[in-house]
Amino acid sequence: MSPVWFPVPPAGYGGIEWIVALLADGLVDAGHDVTLFASGDSHTKARLDAVYPVAPSERIGHTYWELRHAINCLGRAGDFDVISDHTGMLGLTLGSMGPTPLAHTVHGPLSGEPGVMYRQIVAMLPHAALIAVSDDQREPQPDLPWVATCRNALDLSVYPFRPERGDYLLFLGRMTADKGAHRAIAVAIECGLPLKLAGKCREPLEQQYFDDLVRPHLSDRIEYVGEVTHGEKVELLQHARATLFPIEWDEPFGLVMIESMACGAPVIATRFGAVPEVIEDGVTGVIVDRWQEMGAALEQADAIDPQVQRRAVEERFSPQRMVADYLAAYEATIERWA
Ligand code: UDP
Repeated sequence: MSPVWFPVPPAGYGGIEWIVALLADGLVDAGHDVTLFASGDSHTKARLDAVYPVAPSERIGHTYWELRHAINCLGRAGDFDVISDHTGMLGLTLGSMGPTPLAHTVHGPLSGEPGVMYRQIVAMLPHAALIAVSDDQREPQPDLPWVATCRNALDLSVYPFRPERGDYLLFLGRMTADKGAHRAIAVAIECGLPLKLAGKCREPLEQQYFDDLVRPHLSDRIEYVGEVTHGEKVELLQHARATLFPIEWDEPFGLVMIESMACGAPVIATRFGAVPEVIEDGVTGVIVDRWQEMGAALEQADAIDPQVQRRAVEERFSPQRMVADYLAAYEATIERWA
């Protein structure tokens, strides 16, 4: 069961939807009978079941819309051996009360209130089974009923590699303070380098952040190119000198890092959340303690061998590895329900 706010795979922004797309197709390729609950504008090798013909992106976060989607799946729970749930806490709570084993992937961070809420929810659910997307994600709540860590993956056939690098810095993500577009701007200004900013800026808080901290700095060298499609994203990654990932939150995974590594642009990232699990410092990217050190790290990033970073993604973040991890997690979940 996918989140329902964007199609699977997404046309633009949407990390979870990419993972759900890869997972559903990978499970079908591995010979499993899969039904994907997502919006009707999704494309999948699985059987698609949708209550909304088009993803209701403008309703993002509205419980009624999410509930309608969730009960469409959970009402049919008896048809399945296991439900792989990628929605939020609502899907976990309702779905784990039924007779069908449900493995819920936590896609967000667990620090602060979300962690406390997860603890309260699983206390009500004797069989709850949770999957993490990184080991670091579990850290604030190590005693939740984890069955596995299943790190994210990429379909490398749609992330072509280009070893030659360009001259601009790139920021790709959401327009929120956590992701740090404003820090990327400060680094670009300090280094005197052009910066392209690509990202989702649809919701009121994102628009407010953008107006306050991004828009005032835009110029012919600091350019906001909007929310980009997959093709546009690949093009940007293939021609960047480096991707800046100046996060200041407990990033649960950070798909943008492996996308950049796959296409050839080295990543310079701050040491938060799962960053050290994704990047091997000095080998497949550069990790700094504070965003203020990013400019000075640029030469080190230039020296990162693009072939080495591409190979690391092929070896560590392949869909086959992710599908195998999920299958093991489903087995553990079924055992828990038995
Ligand atoms: N993305 C995109 N276009 C944009 C901005 C983001 O396609 O304009 C994609 C990005 O490449 C990645 C996903 O959206 O695949 C975001 O996932 P990530 O794990 O990096 O961050 P999240 O927003 O889920 O914290």
